[in-house]
Amino acid sequence: MAFELTVLGSSGSHTGPGRACSGYLLSAGGTRVMLDCGNGSTANLQRHMAFEDLDAVVVSHRHVDHCIDLVGMFYLLKFHEDGPRQVDLYATPGVVDLLTGLLSGDSAMQFPEVFRVHDIDAGDRFSVDGLDFELFPSVHPVPTVSARITAEDAVLAYSADSAGGGDLVDCAHGADLFLCEATWNGEPEDWPEGVHLTASEAGRLATEAGVDRLLLTHLLGSLDRDRSLDEARRTFAGEVSLADDNLTWTVA
Ligand SMILES: [Zn+2]
Ligand SMILES: [Zn+2]
Repeated sequence: MAFELTVLGSSGSHTGPGRACSGYLLSAGGTRVMLDCGNGSTANLQRHMAFEDLDAVVVSHRHVDHCIDLVGMFYLLKFHEDGPRQVDLYATPGVVDLLTGLLSGDSAMQFPEVFRVHDIDAGDRFSVDGLDFELFPSVHPVPTVSARITAEDAVLAYSADSAGGGDLVDCAHGADLFLCEATWNGEPEDWPEGVHLTASEAGRLATEAGVDRLLLTHLLGSLDRDRSLDEARRTFAGEVSLADDNLTWTVA
C-alpha cells in the first residue's frame, strides 16, 4: 500500500534559515506517525494536523535535533483545551531520561501519563496500525536506530543519523525510497569518523542497497545544498532529491 512521507524538518544538527530539524510525518490510510521530533518540527507538523491526533511518535536517538520538541508537546497534551491527551512514544535508550531531566518536578513525574512510552532498540520490530517498523543499529556516537518501514509492499528506509556501514545497507536494501542523512559534503576524510555521512557516501550506500529513489536529508543548515545534490548524483544513478520542509513524497 502506498503511503506518504511529509518532511517536517530537513536541517541537520541545528536549524537552517526557515528550516527545522529532523521530523517526518508518515501517513498510511488513516494512520499517522511522526518519525523524530527535532527543534521546530512540531511547528511544521501543526500546519498539516494536530499533534494529539498522531497515532505515535518514534524517536531514533537522544540527540536534541531529533527529540527536543517533545518537551513543548508534553505541555500541549497535558493542558489540552479538551482535557489531557495521550500519545504513544517509541523511544530509544536515553530519550525519556533526557526529556524528563528538562521538565521540572511534577511535570517529569507526569511524563508517562502524557506519553505512553514503549522502549525500543536495534533489532526490534513493531507495528502501528498497518505501518511495520524494523530497527537496525546505526553507527553514531549514542545508541541510534535506522528504520525500515513497510506498509504491505511499499518500503521506506530511514538512516536516522548514521556513518553508514553494512547494517544501513541491510536496512535500505531494495527500498522504494531511501531517506538518508547527508550531513556533510566534500571529502569524508575532512570530517570526524563514525558520526555522519557526506552526500557522496549516501549515494554510494543507495547504490549498494539497490534502492529505487534517494532523498537526502539532515544537511547542515549552512551547507551548499546544490553541491550536495551534485555529489550524490555522481555516486547513485537513480533519482535523487533534497528533502525540504513541508514537501510530501509518496512511498510506492
Ligand atoms: Zn541529527
Ligand atoms: Zn545524532
